[in-house]
Amino acid sequence: MATTSFKCPSCGAAIAYVPGTDHTKCPYCQSTHTLEELIAKQKEEEAKVPVQPEMQKAKPDIDQSALREYNCDSCGAQVVTDETTSSTICYYCHNPVIINDRIAGEFLPDKIVPFQIDRDTAVNRFLTWAGSMRYVPRDFTSPANLEKITGIYLPYWVANAKAEMDIEGRGENTRTWTSGDTEYTETKIYQFERQGTIEVGNISELAYSKFDKDLLLSIEPYHNDQKKDFALPYLTGFFAERYDIGQKDVEGRLDERARDYAIQLARDSYSAYRNVRTEREEVDTEIVSWEYTLLPAWILTYHYNGKTYVYAMNGQTGEAFGELPLNQSKLALTSGAIFAAAAVLAILGGWLIW
Ligand SMILES: [Zn+2]
Ligand SMILES: [Zn+2]
Repeated sequence: MATTSFKCPSCGAAIAYVPGTDHTKCPYCQSTHTLEELIAKQKEEEAKVPVQPEMQKAKPDIDQSALREYNCDSCGAQVVTDETTSSTICYYCHNPVIINDRIAGEFLPDKIVPFQIDRDTAVNRFLTWAGSMRYVPRDFTSPANLEKITGIYLPYWVANAKAEMDIEGRGENTRTWTSGDTEYTETKIYQFERQGTIEVGNISELAYSKFDKDLLLSIEPYHNDQKKDFALPYLTGFFAERYDIGQKDVEGRLDERARDYAIQLARDSYSAYRNVRTEREEVDTEIVSWEYTLLPAWILTYHYNGKTYVYAMNGQTGEAFGELPLNQSKLALTSGAIFAAAAVLAILGGWLIW
């Protein structure tokens, strides 16, 4: 299975993308290289490799993207991945590896929001959050557990839609004042129309079935201003997954969301009226363009008492959400103490009343 590993042009060591920048940094010789340099270098290397038509012809029917194993080009170990994993790190030697077939053809992303939050920041924020919680198991914040915090690019379908609106209705405005002994009420009735086309951009749906969609919703939104055209070196040193939910499967939901958004926008525009009656509300939506996009997240999964807990952080904004494993024995002890205290209070209360 064809793979790509970005190596330091100065010393040959494996290099990783530095969040929030346009370059990579070598952990050994500390030299930095821009993504452009790396892409140019990669093209040069590719041009040097002779094409081997016979070998390709020999196995025409094997879907390379479905193979689950590859040999690490650094240590030679055989590494097994999920069939959706497109960028990973060798389990044995920590060499970052990109699996070419899973990031090419139909799986080639249009856009990427590169990581802005680096690993240290993610770990520190997790520790601050976990430290403020009581009753969590002691090893929840152990170094071994912190090791497992993973920077991963997740696949999303991002759509831009347009909505044709034709809305008509009536609303009222009333005004009350007193003059002498008389109270006056004036009611003005307005007829309003909202017609036109609005663009609803950047609506997204997770294109990956192995993570809980609702959990990831709680770390949205991702902002457009740091979105880039996809380039391979952004992946080096991070994990990435390719989509396993097709564009067709999310089209209906995205269309519905574009519609909801358009209707809400229209309603906001006449929200100053009272007693609104809508006489006509026609909204036609259409998705006009798609962008297959990779979005960054820091993820920690934690197994405790037979259940898996997930902590997720938006790799762009730092917005985080975590499910908390509660240590039942610590919890039981404390609630026991609270119960005892409450019993004492009740007795005291009873005694005072007596
Ligand atoms: Zn180096
Ligand atoms: Zn290796």
